Amino acid sequence: MVSRVIPVDEFDLVIFGGTGDLARRKILPGLYRRFCAGQMPETARIIGAARSEHDAEEFKSIVRAAIHEFAANHACDEQQIGAFLDRLDYVQIDARGEGGWKELKGMMREGVVKAFYFSVAPALFGDIAERLQSNGIADAESRIVVEKPFGRDLQSAKKLNADLAKHFHETQIYRIDHYLGKETVQNLMAVRFGNILFEPLWNSQYVDHIQITVAETVGVGGRGEYYDKSGAMRDMVQNHLMQLLCLIAMEPPSRFDPDAVRDEKLKVIRALEPIDHHHIVRGQYDAYEGEPSYREDAGDLRSRTESFIAMRCMISNWRWAGTPFYLRTGKKLKARNSEIAVVFKDAPHSIFGEEAGRHANVLSIRLQPNEGMTLKVTIKEPGPGGMRLIDVPLDMSFAEALGDDAEEITDAYERLIMDVIRGNQTLFMRGDEVEAAWAWTDPLIEGWEARADVPKPYEPGSSGPEDSMMMLHREGRRWREIKG
Ligand code: NAD
Repeated sequence: MVSRVIPVDEFDLVIFGGTGDLARRKILPGLYRRFCAGQMPETARIIGAARSEHDAEEFKSIVRAAIHEFAANHACDEQQIGAFLDRLDYVQIDARGEGGWKELKGMMREGVVKAFYFSVAPALFGDIAERLQSNGIADAESRIVVEKPFGRDLQSAKKLNADLAKHFHETQIYRIDHYLGKETVQNLMAVRFGNILFEPLWNSQYVDHIQITVAETVGVGGRGEYYDKSGAMRDMVQNHLMQLLCLIAMEPPSRFDPDAVRDEKLKVIRALEPIDHHHIVRGQYDAYEGEPSYREDAGDLRSRTESFIAMRCMISNWRWAGTPFYLRTGKKLKARNSEIAVVFKDAPHSIFGEEAGRHANVLSIRLQPNEGMTLKVTIKEPGPGGMRLIDVPLDMSFAEALGDDAEEITDAYERLIMDVIRGNQTLFMRGDEVEAAWAWTDPLIEGWEARADVPKPYEPGSSGPEDSMMMLHREGRRWREIKG
């Protein structure tokens, strides 16, 4: 199967924080892959802008090393790399200083798409936005891309939104949530709204419950002190898991267009009920075989920040009233696995008798590893043993279904950056969505802080604290196994 790569328009992309971890691991290798795929126009330009003192040649060496390290399995052809590096330039800029801005303005071309990626700490967003305008570098057509975390509560998110709104219109602001750039997430919309099969069943009448799991095997390691100020709720739930929940739960938008999709997601967030503390379980990983505990990693032996959270969310609307959405995410769990599982209700009556067994249909959408979808259906166990029912998966692995093209499923970052150049905001969060998500999360966090709630310990390599299992058991359900 030959994929169609439609080149994007001519562009100048400035990456603030171009020498940082995110730029080296994701943004620049991603751009290189798009270059190799023929999606970047030959004359597109990428300008690194950061505080560190480098010239263009040194920046190119940094990028060359990053490509070798992080795009290694992509044909690392020195000629291609050389041609890509020719597109690069560098300017030393302190986001809060005055030097470098005139030089940057001199580098930018007229008549091409201008995009500015803020891959720096959010505290610098306002300063950069202000200087881009006061130096006449950005225009009414320019786009800015901002990274997470977008605030740590409603108040700080509002301030960030207000700081950006002083200089850029909402249609120019691209708030990245890289989960939305994943192939499977977009496929989720294709499956829901491109087929007639699922949508009639997509409601509380037929769906028993939905599980969203984002499990990681790594701990917080060297980022412990930073992570300890946020925790799983702020770091993962408020953004990534809630975005997934919105895409699963939203009403069909009238068109696949940015505001139509984001309006529907916003309605879901606004319909989320408050959660009482019996339906939230927070955990912290223990020490294990010489590896430090969460508290040791965090550098605070009394830390009450969660490295794991499980919660039951309810949505107050006609489609979902009464259907629980169970969310969980954590560090140092059994396997690296991100999955959405739609667990359908049992058939209302078994014509085969109870001894044949009963099995619920489950649609599982895997985000990682091995992106794809599986629909568990019930069939007869083969052989002469009578009418016994078993589950078999109808499996759609994207890598298998799409052959060679899917060997390297486009990384979320590169897809999203190409969307920025195309001017398509569908997969980016709107300001009101982010604020609504914080408005829902803030009282939950305030609740456990007021109770001085202490997270439950859990063993690294497990599925999280026992209480998380109990939360579902009490309701006659169980978590799906976390499998790699
Ligand atoms: P980093 O510390 O590795 O890099 C920061 C970059 O910003 C460097 O290039 C540095 O030179 C530049 N910088 C710092 N202060 C500056 C200033 N005053 N003026 C100009 N440039 C300045 O950080 P990172 O890990 O690359 O993260 C960047 C942003 O992306 C942060 O907002 C972070 O939360 C977010 N993010 C990072 C990751 C990741 O995997 N690293 C993932 C998601 C979001």
